Amino acid sequence: MPRSPLETPALRVLIERPQVEQRIGELAQMLAADYAGSAPLLIGLLNGAVQFMMALMERLPGELLARLDYDFIGVASYQGTESSGQVELTKDLVVAVAGRDVLVVDGIVDTGRSLDFVMAMIASRQPLSLKVCTLLNKPARREFPVPIEYCGFEIEDTFVVGYGMDCDQRYRALRHIAAIG
Ligand code: 5GP
Ligand code: MG
Repeated sequence: MPRSPLETPALRVLIERPQVEQRIGELAQMLAADYAGSAPLLIGLLNGAVQFMMALMERLPGELLARLDYDFIGVASYQGTESSGQVELTKDLVVAVAGRDVLVVDGIVDTGRSLDFVMAMIASRQPLSLKVCTLLNKPARREFPVPIEYCGFEIEDTFVVGYGMDCDQRYRALRHIAAIG
């Protein structure tokens, strides 16, 4: 039987909304400084990065927004029975990457498998530069080393929802980060 969307979730607040928004403001300041002489291309990972990427852009200065483009990329990872997971492209980019200062925006980096796949794909299309900005990072879980230039919060190995992160597609719209259980 499908779960009722009104069912009361057992969620524990991990990072309060004001903390999330303050940190996003700080990240936006760093990006504004680092991309001052550039027309960057932001690439958001669907669906988890949407809320974060929009909030980030909200805090960027107008002159940078006037030069900036954005697009989205979709990947799905399948764990299967083997220990090595597989990543599949579900939505490719529309905007061309060649010669652009690309900033990949992610919601959470866990094993790094999805991001590693995305980075390799984008790198093969000859961007001028390629960096990562993630709202959350779980370094203890890393299996694929991916360089992360901008990180909102490092968290412990716990399953989180909110601010774009879901559990079976639920709780994405929360404006804070919560742990389940
Ligand atoms: P990866 O292991 O490839 O770094 O992460 C794959 C994906 O698993 C992430 O993009 C995210 O969608 C999901 N994921 C990993 N950890 C969490 C978590 O704590 N909460 C939620 N909601 N999703 C997670
Ligand atoms: Mg998910």
